[in-house]
Amino acid sequence: MLNKYFLITVLIFVGQFSFAQKEKAAEITEILCSDSLFGRGYVKDGVNKAADYIASEFEKSGLEPYFEESYFQSFEFGVNTFPGKMSVVLNGKELIPGKDYIVHEMSGSYSGKLDLTYPIDSAVLKEHNLLRIALNEIESKDANAFFVDARGTTPQKETELVRNLIFLAKKAPVVITTGQKFTWSVGRQKLNSPVIILKEEHVSEDMNLEVDIEAEYIKNFNSKNVVGYLPSGKKKAKTIVFTAHYDHLGGMGTEAYFPGANDNASGTAMLISMADYFKENPVDYNLMFIAFAGEEAGLLGSKYFVEQNSIKMKDIEFLLNLDIMGSGEKGITVVNGKQLKEPFEKLQEINTEKNYLVKVKPRGETQNSDHHYFYKEGVPSFFIYTMGHNQHYHDVFDTHEELSFAAYDNIGSPKQNHKRLTCVVCITSLGRLHAHHCAIDNREKRVEVVSSRTVNYGKSSVDDLLTGTLISIKKTNLNDELQQIDGS
Ligand SMILES: [Zn+2]
Repeated sequence: MLNKYFLITVLIFVGQFSFAQKEKAAEITEILCSDSLFGRGYVKDGVNKAADYIASEFEKSGLEPYFEESYFQSFEFGVNTFPGKMSVVLNGKELIPGKDYIVHEMSGSYSGKLDLTYPIDSAVLKEHNLLRIALNEIESKDANAFFVDARGTTPQKETELVRNLIFLAKKAPVVITTGQKFTWSVGRQKLNSPVIILKEEHVSEDMNLEVDIEAEYIKNFNSKNVVGYLPSGKKKAKTIVFTAHYDHLGGMGTEAYFPGANDNASGTAMLISMADYFKENPVDYNLMFIAFAGEEAGLLGSKYFVEQNSIKMKDIEFLLNLDIMGSGEKGITVVNGKQLKEPFEKLQEINTEKNYLVKVKPRGETQNSDHHYFYKEGVPSFFIYTMGHNQHYHDVFDTHEELSFAAYDNIGSPKQNHKRLTCVVCITSLGRLHAHHCAIDNREKRVEVVSSRTVNYGKSSVDDLLTGTLISIKKTNLNDELQQIDGS
């Protein structure tokens, strides 16, 4: 079971987020969202460029490659892509992909004019006549594209209608009108024709549509998990695993792409920050940092990692998955918080005591992120996501400019908790050296010990230490020095 020391260490890490660290997370997020990485997907080699970038950051942080001289674990899967033409012209006006329309991720190619059928609407779910009429129109060549009117139902019904009717694209192109926000995904198969989902404001009596859409199914796309490792000095140490997926949806044509800032450039940025922190502040665990690929295509990277037995599941003490870390005005949700009561309560306890986040909310099990396959194999796992104002999700508006990183403010702002976390060293009357992680409250001139470790005070003299209870304050790297003194 997760011990308190680890939780405290994580919380100290979180507590050490200063303004500078927020800036760094924002910077990494911006790089991961840049147009050269093109939505960390499957055209312009975006996802693999992102992998190289993350590996170089891991190296800078001082993480060891987990695999023989490599940070990468490759795996393959089939994926539908839109690497070329993407044009929808309605009544002479070129529409903007991602904003005016999206093509469904399983869309096929098509070039030419679309003559639409009589609109199939939500009634078709109960009443099949309209569908029969539309099919007749296609078969008799009175029309060459299905027209589905998905407006005016509940969002759930609308999603259901789309899900049921995209398969019409096996026969002919499909045009669907929607009142909902666009939510794109990764297609694992390719239909014969495109499915064009149009914003409702573009619907009119007379719709003259001319489209040119190129889709390409890649049978064996090569993707990579990026895995860095920080071994503990201790033999037989168990391992704490931190995970965040770095892949996103990629692009639609050569211009439009889905930046995936919140999902999950933000979590990847936090993962890299954590690597930096723990390199400087070692703990008695082996630490593994995994940036997963293939998450948006169905948790493929984490599934592969678990299936390959890349680490023995029983050697993992705990796993913390970070996905969607870019807001936090309303706190965080902890998936599996309801199942793993003890560690969850400790998290809440520390949060309440320190007044870090406005809310730490427990949630039950979910299968929607990379903790899932580990948890299924019995690894105690939390999946943490931030809650806040940002509602952009799987759309072109999930940009780095939209992220508040409010969770960092809640935690790091000296205005709010007036505390600085640092290391304090003291020597007891018995000549032992103690290293304490302390919270120093500047306002109340109070030092609070968060965690401690004792080492033998041996060889070298430490001149900046005074004998007494509270001696010297070193900002960072104290553990390194102590280890030197310790001779370990
Ligand atoms: Zn995600």
